[in-house]
Amino acid sequence: MMKEINKGTQALWAGEKDQLVHGATQVPVVHSVSFGYDDMDEWYEVAVGNKTGHIYGRNTNPTVQAFEDKVKTLEEAEAATSFSTGMAAISNTLGTFLFPGDRIVSIKDTYGGTNKIFTEFLPKQHVDVELCETGNHEAIEEEVAKGCKVLYLETPTNPTVKITDIERMVKAGHDVGALVIIDNTFATPINQNPIELGVDLVIHSATKFLGGHADALGGVVCGREELVEQIYHYREINGATLDPMAAYLLLRGMKTLHLRIGRQNENAQKIAEYLKTVDMVDDVFYPGLEEHPGHDIAKKQMRGFGGMLSFSVKGGIDTVRHLLPKLQFANRAANLGAVETIVGPARTTSHVECTPEERAAMGIPEGLIRYSAGIEDIDDLIADLEQAFASLPENMLAK
Ligand SMILES: *Cc1c(COP(=O)(O)O)cnc(C)c1O
Repeated sequence: MMKEINKGTQALWAGEKDQLVHGATQVPVVHSVSFGYDDMDEWYEVAVGNKTGHIYGRNTNPTVQAFEDKVKTLEEAEAATSFSTGMAAISNTLGTFLFPGDRIVSIKDTYGGTNKIFTEFLPKQHVDVELCETGNHEAIEEEVAKGCKVLYLETPTNPTVKITDIERMVKAGHDVGALVIIDNTFATPINQNPIELGVDLVIHSATKFLGGHADALGGVVCGREELVEQIYHYREINGATLDPMAAYLLLRGMKTLHLRIGRQNENAQKIAEYLKTVDMVDDVFYPGLEEHPGHDIAKKQMRGFGGMLSFSVKGGIDTVRHLLPKLQFANRAANLGAVETIVGPARTTSHVECTPEERAAMGIPEGLIRYSAGIEDIDDLIADLEQAFASLPENMLAK
């Protein structure tokens, strides 16, 4: 038996071989919308799926396939299918399996867009949605035990990086025959492989850490062939297809996934430890900190604690207004998971769709800052935060 290939090697080599042509060492961007056949019988066999090949770009494309195959390998999955965005991956997956009268159980702290699907769109389709307190495993188990078609998880969550015990939730879900789906965007396959823990479907916003360079949108779902096939069919008809150029950029970004994530894990840990020493900081949320309520579970199910953290500052949004523009090495932007550090208030980024009351109910203070650690030199990132805190006006420090 061949030795198991490590993630770093997979990030470079997996998924590419079948798409290389003319001796190229890199996957080409195939922009062709359709694929032609002189042999009518061969065309027919490919069209009905008896033979591998490509027919039309909304369905499949060689560059897109290389991207799907790479993610599939990194996530230890049988199959993967991709989408134009992470939200398309989420909405198409839910659309494939949920029908009027069905019930889904999830948590309150899912990504803002996902939360909108749960609170705005699914109820209109007469799907019953139950959102439990994130991290309250008993409450989730109780709701799941009442019966549900889907148990939908996200861990770590956005923006307070709460942790859910994946194996425990898989057991609860499978006991009632539910499909267990997880958004693994924050962890990435370098830090966490939910399929190994029994999860049925793993979703990524490839826009974030997978691509890693904030220059391409994309989404992907991995899991068992029989499930992914159904999602693929829903997507090929509904049309939220990943563009080949975006697939190429994501593929290229993924070659350094293991290097970037290793560095981002380290930087986030050091930033979190530094922030704990700052007077103006009320709270630091990072699963790599021993006092984080999810630390032990995270240690059990993750190989690294990830590049995302958040912290709240004294003086709330007024302090945020002064502090963030002073940072020299951070983009003030809505995305996350890029090579550059990115900061933003949660009220403007992950939870902009919520009212202040909704945010308060979710435990998201108006002065909460989401921090996506980049791959910069850590000394420069800490010095940058130091000078930004030092520049706060006297009257703010007094608060
Ligand atoms: C960004 C994000 C999404 C949505 O992805 P898009 O590519 O922006 O559509 C979903 N889940 C999580 C956790 C995210 O961070």
